[in-house]
Amino acid sequence: MKSSNFRYSDDNKRYHTYNYYLRHKYGIKVFKVPLNANFGCPNRDGTKGVGGCTYCSNKMSGDFAGDPILDIERQYDYVRQVLLKKWDNAKCIPYFQAGTNTYAPIEKQKKLFERAMTFKNAVGLNISTRADCINEEIADMLYDISQNTDLEVELGLQTIYDKTAEKINRCHTYEDFLKGYNILKERKINICVHIINGLPGETKDMMINTAQTVGALKPHGLKIHLLYIIKGTKMYEQFLRGEVKALERDEYVQIVCDQLERIPEDVVIERVTGDGVKEDLIAPLWSLKKFCVMNEIDKEMLRRNSYQGILVGKD
Ligand code: SF4
Repeated sequence: MKSSNFRYSDDNKRYHTYNYYLRHKYGIKVFKVPLNANFGCPNRDGTKGVGGCTYCSNKMSGDFAGDPILDIERQYDYVRQVLLKKWDNAKCIPYFQAGTNTYAPIEKQKKLFERAMTFKNAVGLNISTRADCINEEIADMLYDISQNTDLEVELGLQTIYDKTAEKINRCHTYEDFLKGYNILKERKINICVHIINGLPGETKDMMINTAQTVGALKPHGLKIHLLYIIKGTKMYEQFLRGEVKALERDEYVQIVCDQLERIPEDVVIERVTGDGVKEDLIAPLWSLKKFCVMNEIDKEMLRRNSYQGILVGKD
């Protein structure tokens, strides 16, 4: 039952959820199916950097993606079959999640993306990448894809602050990000930007400013992640040495609500927290209770009598 007056909500949510977007667009249950096409990453092979971003596990941001030994169609079918047991007429969005999915010869990218569009029950396509791996030629190819399916390109920005980017070994600047972002935007390709709260050395104001600055770019979607520490990463070593701290849950909830208030209401919020693989997660352990975090965000927005976008243009 609708208990909030927010325009993009049918329930108690006071922000524009991805569920709301999918439900209204397709009128049916739709899932993203994470895939690992083994594209690799320029931040690991020495092209841009070595070792990758300090928080990134060897699964390359694809902790829930399929096994790269399997063909992507088999990865997709495996997940689809599981989901169909619960929702028998659900649709799926193949999601190239692990690694940098525009980092390969363009013909290879095109072939894989076009193939994924034909998978059974597929209604769209999501491609996750780095903005510095977008150029005019790739953007033209993606534009052609977007003419035949509901395409969204996800760009991992994490922070607008280059100082922090250096600390996490992101190996590209905010200016590089803007270049790639604008090349896609010029072609009216839907973009979802990822940001992370809790990066080393960042204050609450910096995190809010990152969200606000990204919001002003008017992406189609925004994913707000929580920094979590995963076993085996560089950040894990820093965490053990006390150089990195995990956010407390209440602190995180306040930051996310402050951010949501500054994001235009039509930007789809595709995520408001992060959830690492349980076996590898070191901190913060409260993040495992994802629904609890989401509930706390709902409760805080209600307590403030606030909505997504309420402060846009006001500070
Ligand atoms: S760019 Fe993405 S895949 Fe590559 S190291 Fe960073 S987080 Fe991992």
